[in-house]
Amino acid sequence: MTDAADGGQRDLAAVGTAPPPARVPAAVLAEHRAAVAAIGEAYAALPPGSRVRLAKRTSNLFRFRDPLPGPTPRNAAAGNGMAAAARGLWAAGSRGRAPSTGTGGLDASAFTRVLHVDPRARLAVVGGMTTYEDLADATLRHGLMPLVVPQLKTITLGGAVTGLGIESTSLRNGLPHESVTEMEILTGDGRVVTAAPGGEHAGLYYGFPNSYGTLGYALSLTIELEPVQPYVHLRHYRFTSPEACMEAVGQIAAERSLHGHRADFVDGTAFSLDEIYLTVGAYSDAAPWVSDYTGQRIYYRSLRGPREDFLTIRDYLWRWDTDWFWCSRPFGVQHPAIRRAWPRRYRRSDVYRALVAFDRRYRLWDTLNASRGQPPREAVIQDVEISLERAAAFARFFAAEVGMSPVWLCPLRLRGDQSWPLYPLRPGEVYVNFGFWGTVPLPPGCTDGHYNRRVEAEVAALGGRKSLYSTSFYSPEQFWEHYNGPAYAALKREYDGAGRLAGLYEKCVRGQ
Ligand SMILES: Cc1cc2nc3c(=O)[nH]c(=O)nc-3n(C[C@H](O)[C@H](O)[C@H](O)COP(=O)(O)OP(=O)(O)OC[C@H]3O[C@@H](n4cnc5c(N)ncnc54)[C@H](O)[C@@H]3O)c2cc1C
Repeated sequence: MTDAADGGQRDLAAVGTAPPPARVPAAVLAEHRAAVAAIGEAYAALPPGSRVRLAKRTSNLFRFRDPLPGPTPRNAAAGNGMAAAARGLWAAGSRGRAPSTGTGGLDASAFTRVLHVDPRARLAVVGGMTTYEDLADATLRHGLMPLVVPQLKTITLGGAVTGLGIESTSLRNGLPHESVTEMEILTGDGRVVTAAPGGEHAGLYYGFPNSYGTLGYALSLTIELEPVQPYVHLRHYRFTSPEACMEAVGQIAAERSLHGHRADFVDGTAFSLDEIYLTVGAYSDAAPWVSDYTGQRIYYRSLRGPREDFLTIRDYLWRWDTDWFWCSRPFGVQHPAIRRAWPRRYRRSDVYRALVAFDRRYRLWDTLNASRGQPPREAVIQDVEISLERAAAFARFFAAEVGMSPVWLCPLRLRGDQSWPLYPLRPGEVYVNFGFWGTVPLPPGCTDGHYNRRVEAEVAALGGRKSLYSTSFYSPEQFWEHYNGPAYAALKREYDGAGRLAGLYEKCVRGQ
């Protein structure tokens, strides 16, 4: 980041081909600077040898270990509600789990807000731990939104950039990190640096995606925005085989439309191999009606109904959050009577996720299952990217070998011609993201990891990639082959030489 030369404001311009600079108001900038200085001091004061972790109340990781409670304005505001109760259960569930070597919780609550939206430059300067819910609200006020808005409200900008993210604009706009023009990062060795393409820390800029906070923490990010229209006009197209569906994805990638309907947004849902829907959304200035899936109606079920729908842009962005895709089902929230009683404001992914975390901590479902004589179940919660030409083969493998449904499909293509070293996808190539989140009964004699290992092996055989937000079972050799060991080692040496932050393998596979 460079200092302001203009009326107490500061240029947050990226170098190279970046758009014009966003200017942060002086008072906001002063507060931010003080917070950066404070977190730097707090980091330096953590006992040497202690493992550092972000003290952050929300998370969308599915590895469930050692969450450290820390105050945020949103949590404080939700203090007496069900969300707070769920979060409280989660915190209670994790109490006492810190490793005996000592784990330092770094309070990141000063970085949870949007610092500035510059509608003219179509840029936003955003605290690293700002949720997409807050970020989208701040930008929609200006008729703009981030180029990719992951579907879960409490995913944060920093989390989506360091841990990757995807959504239905990803065929057009690539992945969230591709619209970051610069990042202010507290590195593992305690420096605060500005990482941008072409600058001194360009290596860190490119290596940050898929580093999961193991090189440093993004304190602020400058991102590009795109103009929106008030509504999204949806059309759901049904396919009776994965091959036919993938052919249509190829057509959309080539023509940016399907059957004449403009594809500003594309995702899909597979209920079975012969019932797959692609949902194509076009921005619209007008809508003859708008649907509401935050009430009694449930979005994923609507895909099987009328072929046309309209949502406001905000409701479109959060269409999957209300029922956590379909994962609210085990809590009974999809049953009409329970849904009526379950307050609308608590039909949100962070509430369900907190309940799952509590269950995982105390193994309630496992115990209930065992008492009923039912086989143990394995959680198979993953997102994988497979090239378009092999995506139908993966769909068939998954249906035959794992058999979980529904499965979420989301086509993507890198926005630029740059390959990102720690999550190498080929520029120009179309991929399909498969998201599956649930549990399956283990066959007799098989132990946890049975299905996840098969998925890992198949993804590797098809030349795909697996996201690392959930469980992984790779050996160190396999892992570093997939996630560019040499590039990571060089970055780790440069930005966290003393290893204060956990390593990527230790964090993502060993769960440290
Ligand atoms: C059921 C399910 C469905 C999902 N679906 C989608 C999806 O459809 N689209 C999508 O985009 N993603 C999806 N995800 C994945 C999600 O985007 C990633 O898990 C993401 O990393 C979560 O971000 P978070 O802000 O909640 O980060 P956290 O869960 O808090 O943290 C994730 C990791 O990032 C690190 N981290 C967090 N903030 C920062 C920061 N500012 N700087 C550096 N490191 C940081 C943390 O240390 C941690 O290792 C899904 C996850 C689940 C469980």
